Amino acid sequence: RSLEGSDASVQGTNDDAQISKMSCAKAGYFKDEFIQYFVRRASRRSPLINRGYYSRHAALRQLLNRFLAAAAATASQQPQVLVLGAGFDTTWFQLHRDLGRAPYKCLEVDFKEVTQRKAATIAKEPALRNALTTTTMATTAAAPAAAADAAAGAAAAARPCPSVTPHPHPPHTFRRSPTYILSECVLVYMEPLHSAAVVSWAAHTFPNAVIAIYEQIRPDDAFGRQMVSNLEMRGCPLRGLPATPSLAAHCARLMDGGWAWADARDMDTLYRTFLESQDKARVERLEIFDELEEWHMIQEHYCIALGRNDVSGWLGSVGFD
Ligand code: SAM
Repeated sequence: RSLEGSDASVQGTNDDAQISKMSCAKAGYFKDEFIQYFVRRASRRSPLINRGYYSRHAALRQLLNRFLAAAAATASQQPQVLVLGAGFDTTWFQLHRDLGRAPYKCLEVDFKEVTQRKAATIAKEPALRNALTTTTMATTAAAPAAAADAAAGAAAAARPCPSVTPHPHPPHTFRRSPTYILSECVLVYMEPLHSAAVVSWAAHTFPNAVIAIYEQIRPDDAFGRQMVSNLEMRGCPLRGLPATPSLAAHCARLMDGGWAWADARDMDTLYRTFLESQDKARVERLEIFDELEEWHMIQEHYCIALGRNDVSGWLGSVGFD
């Protein structure tokens, strides 16, 4: 299939995100020595962008850590992580470095063009390749047999269209394992009908799961309109925002999709109330920062929406409180 113009632009948002993450890593906001392999042209971002990416990284990592701790306490099955629109996300490598072992079973879904580039980079770089075995991580471009069904199901769900027959029937053990689904700046680029289908597919496929969705909100005030038009100019309209893109609408999308519990908070709130104070104090000393008004405005226009299914009673502790 040849790429539609907008598909290519949306894939470009991955390169952009990784440049920002590398800028953060270089400035000392968080440790990521793997991202360099995925960035062709590094660029230094402003303190405002760096701090924004830091807060996104820190909040999502804290949720993932809570999930892994909860899953470890069940001790029954290896946890698994499904990353929708993963792009060149390096979380798995970072945790592998910290723990010295595979932190979880990982399945990443993205456009074929993106996963192929990622797989090629991993194959070429020993620092990445040596961390990996075929049973610990799969991309849709190179899924080993055991994960192929799930990959096909997830890939089809990530882009429902008439020519793709969804195949969402992963083996029973895969379905019941503690599962963390990460969707970081992905669903907003899809048609609302399609993003709702992904949210609902995930809810009905995984009875013991958490879904963390990081994305834009409040596109209708002055700042939000600017944010939307900047992305439109780059060929990436925010198609997938819920009808009234508020925190309540994010929760409603999750609950309507079949998740048993939902919560959503904006990043300004999460920065104040959820991130670790000590680490915040450390990063706030890294760069001169005087754009406080803009900082709060940006942070109010991003959120994390969290959905949870907890049939086995394993995951109740995975939340913002
Ligand atoms: N999640 C990564 C991160 O935060 O570093 C990448 C985010 S990037 C902004 C969005 C990613 O979603 C891109 O890699 C893009 O190719 C992928 N994506 C968008 N729409 C998609 C779709 N319908 N199916 C699969 N992947 C998609």
